[in-house]
Amino acid sequence: GAAGAVSADNVDALSSGFPLCMQHLHTQLLKDHHLRHGGRMQFGLFLKGIGLGLQEALVYWRRAFGNMTDDQFQKGYAYNIRHNYGMEGKRADYTPYSCHRIIMSNPPGPGDHHGCPFRHFSTDRLRAALHRDRLTDAEVREIAELAGAGHYQVACTRHLEVKMQHRKAQQQQTSDTETHISSIASPNQFFDLCIGDCK
Ligand code: SF4
Repeated sequence: GAAGAVSADNVDALSSGFPLCMQHLHTQLLKDHHLRHGGRMQFGLFLKGIGLGLQEALVYWRRAFGNMTDDQFQKGYAYNIRHNYGMEGKRADYTPYSCHRIIMSNPPGPGDHHGCPFRHFSTDRLRAALHRDRLTDAEVREIAELAGAGHYQVACTRHLEVKMQHRKAQQQQTSDTETHISSIASPNQFFDLCIGDCK
């Protein structure tokens, strides 16, 4: 995205274009006013990838962690945020995680919210998350079956296609062609494709 297009104030409004993994992290952050390290990394680098700059990221996370003191935030969290933007430590410019990395490494433990819902949620929990995103019973069934068969990124791609179709239907665009997208490889790719068409 263009520099400065995403600010601390509009992350919440953009969340309807997030893939399921980021919807989950965002919801939990709002609910708990906290995320553990794995979630902060996965969500923080995703937000960086959609164009949230360092200063806005510090504002966003400070606000989201509203229950702690400034001192706690500065000592415990601000360093990590600056680190993700290459401003601390070895000053590497960290990039958002790919689906492959999220699916294959560092599975979430109890109390963690990072990971891929298609891979790491139980079937019931996955179905509930898809229903919350306003998918129909038939759509939820189809996508849960793909995930159950181990086709996690195919399931996520189908989720995106369905969201785009809903959007078209809302705008009453007649389309004979179904939306087909090549497999989603990263949460940021999902967002970039979705935000134009299914926000
Ligand atoms: Fe996120 Fe990728 Fe899983 Fe989709 S397939 S929920 S983008 S990790």
